[in-house]
Amino acid sequence: MSLQRRLTLFFVLIVILPLAAAALVMQRAVVDRFVQAAADDRRAALDAAVPVFKQRVKALDERVAAAGPSRRWFAQTLSVRRAPLGGPAGGGRASVDRRLGRLLEDESVMDFVIALDREGAVAGFALERPRYLDGFGAPGARAIVASERGIGNGFFRTAEISVGRQGSLIGGLWLDGDLLGILQRRPSHMSLVSNGTVIASTSGAPVAVGARVTFEGPFAAELGQPVSADARHLGGQGADVAVVASTPTQRVADAQRGSLTAMVQLLALALMAILVLAHLLARVITQPLMELTAGATAVAGGDLDYEMEVHSIDEVGKLASSFNYMTAQLRATIRELSASRDRLQRAVFRVGETLRSTSDTNSMLASILNMAGDAVEAEAAVLWMPTPTGGELYPAVAEGLDLAQLRRVPLASGGVGMAARTGAPLKLNAGAASAGEPALPVGMAVPMPSREGTPSVLALYRHDAGKPFTDEDRSTVVFLAEQGGVAIENVMLHEEARRLSLTDGLTGVWNRRYVQIQFRKELAGAIRYERPFSLLLLDLDHFKDINDSYGHQCGDEVLVELSQRVDNGLREVDTFARFGGEEFLCLLSETDEEGALIKAEKIRKLIKSAPVERTGGQPIAVTVSIGVATFPFYGESFDTLLHAADRALYRAKRKGRDQVCLADPPRPGLKIAT
Ligand code: GH3
Ligand code: MG
Ligand code: MG
Repeated sequence: MSLQRRLTLFFVLIVILPLAAAALVMQRAVVDRFVQAAADDRRAALDAAVPVFKQRVKALDERVAAAGPSRRWFAQTLSVRRAPLGGPAGGGRASVDRRLGRLLEDESVMDFVIALDREGAVAGFALERPRYLDGFGAPGARAIVASERGIGNGFFRTAEISVGRQGSLIGGLWLDGDLLGILQRRPSHMSLVSNGTVIASTSGAPVAVGARVTFEGPFAAELGQPVSADARHLGGQGADVAVVASTPTQRVADAQRGSLTAMVQLLALALMAILVLAHLLARVITQPLMELTAGATAVAGGDLDYEMEVHSIDEVGKLASSFNYMTAQLRATIRELSASRDRLQRAVFRVGETLRSTSDTNSMLASILNMAGDAVEAEAAVLWMPTPTGGELYPAVAEGLDLAQLRRVPLASGGVGMAARTGAPLKLNAGAASAGEPALPVGMAVPMPSREGTPSVLALYRHDAGKPFTDEDRSTVVFLAEQGGVAIENVMLHEEARRLSLTDGLTGVWNRRYVQIQFRKELAGAIRYERPFSLLLLDLDHFKDINDSYGHQCGDEVLVELSQRVDNGLREVDTFARFGGEEFLCLLSETDEEGALIKAEKIRKLIKSAPVERTGGQPIAVTVSIGVATFPFYGESFDTLLHAADRALYRAKRKGRDQVCLADPPRPGLKIAT
């Protein structure tokens, strides 16, 4: 369910529920009020009925009393009974009744009148027919006369009013529908009950004449069908007559249904109105959310230029502003990231270039330093490398600083020493710098990971104290240091492997293969520039004896010592190599015959000058014999030159050893053969 629907439902519920409860309570109150009004009306009807009835009785009494004293009229009336029937004055009982009936004509104060003669017998009975309904018989004159004054069954009669000695008169009222008409007060229905039987009811009353009624309590009547009723006794002798006011339950039910229908209709109307309002309200609330969602979707889809419209300064407006701020920040960050990615790409490209083009470690180190400095816009950079023992770091390459001004830094001392010791990048500060380090205000030292031993450290500096390196700068340098460290280590390993394949395992000087490689280079240069070079072949004298006298181990030590001594005594450009056993080769670059003889003599003396010291024993004196051959005169290939030198050496041996011999001049025939 969408948020808008949920909000609508929520609003509808929070309004309609209390409204429905209130409507229910109101409906109940209306019904109660109706019931109460009906009860009040019944009570009022009864309260009014008794005085009206009494007034009626009083008027009756007065009327009968007024009629009574007219003795002459009464005597005439009674005499009529005795007149012959059909005579001029009429005659018989019916004529008496007619004369009596005139008493009833004028008004409805009296419903019947009975004339009694001197003996108390009924002489006449005039009446207006009682308005009983079916089921109740009107009492006869005798029954009325037999009763005492007051209320009888269905009637009220006065006391006997004597008219002289002629007889007496009794007047009366029917307790019938006419009386009820006078007693009635709408909207209650009225009934008259005599001795437990309904004798008259107003029209429409739910109580039928003749129905049996039982009273429970003084004023409530159970009328045999669902009605609410109250009763008031009118009194009586031998007859218990009561006025009953009743309201049919049906009317309450109708009222209840009517009010309920009205409430339901009202609620339905309210519900419709609330639905419309709630829908509008939910839309007003969710609309900004929809806009925000659209914005977020656009941004998620890559449209960072999406600008949210700010309609208000409320929470939603603030949210929209924050959203716009967020996208602006995102744009800035992405711009920054792109720039930094470009920088990094350039750096990585240069790393690749460098690693491809640089074959020697030193220029690679310089390139890495240069790159790192560029990547973080450092103004100075130094690559500190561990000394062979690993106890110190020396400045190997520097940029933006004079390398000569820098000194070695002991491990764990100053910023660079600490970085090498801990293996973790750290910020440098001028105050904590050791004596050998540059004391610049801003700096960071990043160790270059190495597989073993003390790592090298890449240190970068800035002169402006207000421009410290950021975490991002540090990450960049760490990345470059990792790549550079691995590359350097690989190159070094490669160089080491190469060196091992070209050097002699015992003495550490070059081996025969290396001399041959160097020979080819030297030969090419010599041919191109038409310059000479020379080859010396050295063989230690009586070396077998040394082995025999001091042991093979000792012989090895002598070989190591002497080869180092000779190697150190030569120029950089010359190549000194162990040729095999105790024989050595020396390739003298750009050296002619004369220079070669001088150099050979120098070597001979170098070996002879100092006996080889050995721990716990006599120093061993060693001499060497050397054969010399120079390109191109004594040979133009490695083999011919070597052959020439070998023969010269042989001569030196033969001549008593410890001397230098120049090769024999080549024989013409032999030269052609090579
Ligand atoms: P000379 O050359 O003066 O004629 O006498 P020499 O005793 O040196 O004779 P030669 O050159 O024929 O003998 C070479 C000896 O050098 C044989 C061997 O015992 C010894 N030698 C060769 N290679 C090694 C080595 O690697 N270590 C040791 N300790 N001795 C070696
Ligand atoms: Mg030898
Ligand atoms: Mg020898």
